[in-house]
Amino acid sequence: MTSSFLLTMIVRYDLPQDKIPTTWYNILPDLPEPLPPPKDETGKAFEVLKEVLPSKVLEIEFSQERYIKIPEEVLEKYLQIGRPTPIIRARKLEEYFGNVVKIYMKMESHTYTGSHKINSALAHVYYATLDNAKFVSTETGAGQWGAAVALAAALFHIKAHVFMVRTSYFAKPYRRYLMQMYGADVHPSPSEFTPYGREVLQKDPNNPGSLGIAITEAVKYALENGGRYVVGSVVNSDILFKTIAGQEAKVQMEMIGEDPDYIIGVVGGGSNYAALAFPFLGEELRSGKVRRKYIASGSLEVPKMTKGVYKYDYPDTGKILPQLKMYTIGSDFIPPPVYAGGLRYHAVAPTLSLLMSKGIVEARDYDQETAFAWAKLFSQIEGWVPAPETSHALPIIKEIADEAKKSGEKKTVLVSFSGHGLLDLANYAEVLGFK
Ligand SMILES: *Cc1c(COP(=O)(O)O)cnc(C)c1O
Repeated sequence: MTSSFLLTMIVRYDLPQDKIPTTWYNILPDLPEPLPPPKDETGKAFEVLKEVLPSKVLEIEFSQERYIKIPEEVLEKYLQIGRPTPIIRARKLEEYFGNVVKIYMKMESHTYTGSHKINSALAHVYYATLDNAKFVSTETGAGQWGAAVALAAALFHIKAHVFMVRTSYFAKPYRRYLMQMYGADVHPSPSEFTPYGREVLQKDPNNPGSLGIAITEAVKYALENGGRYVVGSVVNSDILFKTIAGQEAKVQMEMIGEDPDYIIGVVGGGSNYAALAFPFLGEELRSGKVRRKYIASGSLEVPKMTKGVYKYDYPDTGKILPQLKMYTIGSDFIPPPVYAGGLRYHAVAPTLSLLMSKGIVEARDYDQETAFAWAKLFSQIEGWVPAPETSHALPIIKEIADEAKKSGEKKTVLVSFSGHGLLDLANYAEVLGFK
């Protein structure tokens, strides 16, 4: 028998590999109202999608099935790259806050590429191979998505072309090296490698790049050369593939015997947060009553969460993809070269936007200095370095703890620990002023 003393020290909750969930969750049938459809005024954008996305991905994008079976080929790779990920209880951070909150972290930092992004990259790339694509192409900001696609492409034996936002390409060489380690071709976007990139550079040779520009480059390159483009966030199919994290977390929280009062996480395009929250939220939506609090945060330097407008906008700067209804600060927005690169996207996933507009998901934004100061404190208290993106969730925990202290009611929080920061130390050093 385990001693009761040991039980009070346990921080790690693992799901055995043979208990990994075998379905993805799709929130579309459970939304409070139908999702506003993509808008395509020219009729050309849908044609582009049909040509450029893996065909099965496009089919899944509009599926109304609640649960979708994960192909065995993808499931096998999930097990290879570190799934199921553990849930870790941040007991020391709880002590720091005066034991007014219980903090459970779903550790997506524990995959081989160090973030949640591999969860969908494997699915997209697998489906691209079913179309006999010549290669896969994609964009990346900080490099996490690019690294995930590069690994997925290596595991499924297909070439990857990654268009990396120019500032990050030079500021974040280690993720680029990781992609190159996996055998991907990485281009600084806007790049000299494609006609579109050259056009942008001609107008502005110092263009720092943006995710919007990189998306346009990746899409056009795939279209013109027989590749398939893989989408790293925002769209339903991508979120649905990533729900493996939330599906696991549901089983784990039941195992632990806890029901979170709050489910929180950070938003770049929205897939990280949605992947954890949707399997929990879907159940509540079906029951007709949402009891838990869902809070998502972004970066104040790209403030679409709190200052975005809910309207139709392009997901890409090149305006070749259909418009989506979402909270947006404009597809032309060029963010300052903030370091939490994974939060730079200009808009919020349509499904998540709909839920925000209904008040079901609450939005916050935090500036980089605040988030990074929390990251440093967290590292010293818990011992594990969060990704700069992930650190934007820490101020939410602080605010929940403050509230709990005031009300005297103990709360339980589940947070998506979206990635680790071991490849982001240069960014931390610069902002926090390490000598
Ligand atoms: C990309 C990224 C995010 C944001 O993810 P979205 O799915 O775009 O919202 C958060 N954390 C980390 C570590 C990331 O790499």
